[in-house]
Amino acid sequence: MSFKKLGLNDLLLKAIEEKGYTDPSVIQEKAIPQILAGKDVLASAQTGTGKTAGFSLPLVQILAENPKEGRRQIKALILTPTRELAAQVYDEVRSFAAYTKLETAVIFGGVKQASQVARLKQGVDILVATPGRLLDLYQQKLLKLHQVNFLILDEADRMLDMGFIRDIRKILSFLPEQKQSLLFSATFSPEIKKLASTFLQDPVTVAAAPENTTAELVNQKIYRVDKTRKTELIIKLIWENNWHQVLVFTRTKHGANRLAQKFQKKKITAAAIHGNKTQNARTKALEGFKSGEVSVLVATDIAARGLDIPLLPYVINFEIPNIPEDYVHRIGRTARAGASGDAISLVSADELNYLKDIEKLLGVKLPKETVEGFEPEETEPVAPPSQKKKSVNFRKKRSNNNRFKKR
Ligand code: AMP
Repeated sequence: MSFKKLGLNDLLLKAIEEKGYTDPSVIQEKAIPQILAGKDVLASAQTGTGKTAGFSLPLVQILAENPKEGRRQIKALILTPTRELAAQVYDEVRSFAAYTKLETAVIFGGVKQASQVARLKQGVDILVATPGRLLDLYQQKLLKLHQVNFLILDEADRMLDMGFIRDIRKILSFLPEQKQSLLFSATFSPEIKKLASTFLQDPVTVAAAPENTTAELVNQKIYRVDKTRKTELIIKLIWENNWHQVLVFTRTKHGANRLAQKFQKKKITAAAIHGNKTQNARTKALEGFKSGEVSVLVATDIAARGLDIPLLPYVINFEIPNIPEDYVHRIGRTARAGASGDAISLVSADELNYLKDIEKLLGVKLPKETVEGFEPEETEPVAPPSQKKKSVNFRKKRSNNNRFKKR
């Protein structure tokens, strides 16, 4: 299948060629014709599937083919959960619009609004925004939304996780009824489905992979290890295998800082990226990582959202997430756009229940391995077979166990 067969015009094909894309990805193949046909779309696609181009290409084509007379007004709104994702989506949209007359801009919080406001004043067709800054500028009457006839919610599941539901509802209430809407999400909880039903009209459903499954090319490994030995093990893995471009996930911001410092002590170049860091520090850490100056980037889930690092070879879960969907997002950082990658999770006894939840979501068992010299000594919490409520029993067992109490 070629991009041309999807119905894209020469201006877009030229931009695609310059980006170096030769064949459309699965989500692009499925979504582009539907969007070009004017349909509302509910798309199941995680990062790494090429979803951004999946919505940007048809969006740019539709707007370019239907120019409006008069003053330039915002016609398309793309909402993303994080500033990093907003910046990336903006870059991609802009490169696809390179041969059109469309103007694109991006706005997000954490930086001063002045330059964003100045840009908006020049006239914008496509606006990429995070919900908070959008509402802020809208309420200050610094932007108008009455001409928006195209709405895209990107990574909608993450927006709900981050508590943006009220902002989204508010924004929806400011938009015209008559519009084409797309919702992209990696996972589909009942809340997402409910949100989708409030603004998508007769949506076509497209999926890059079946709902809640992980990229086939990701080589998932589970290493059982004692909690107290995780740092030692992760350093050994990275050091001895000479891994570069490793994205490590921790559950907390402090955990990310601490671990990055431990890497640095061992002369592994590392940086931490999380919500307490300034936008500048985040951008700098990401640039260092992309350029290869920094080998290991330690991140929390929210900060890692939307990081676009093509061909990331290694993702390590220093702690596995307690929200199973986060696991899907995290390992979606590797094996991007058709390349294969390793996703390694270091799992201590107290995390085995989280692992079970992940396996349940994925519908597969993830075989557990051990690394020589790191065989766990912690006792695994085992539920007595006669009791049904496993999680309650685990907790009881844990509180009776001095090993767990100490931690
Ligand atoms: P996304 O899922 O939108 O975050 O895209 C993941 C990565 O795949 C980005 O680095 C894109 O530049 C890249 N990409 C998107 N579409 C294609 C394609 N058709 N061929 C090759 N790379 C692509």
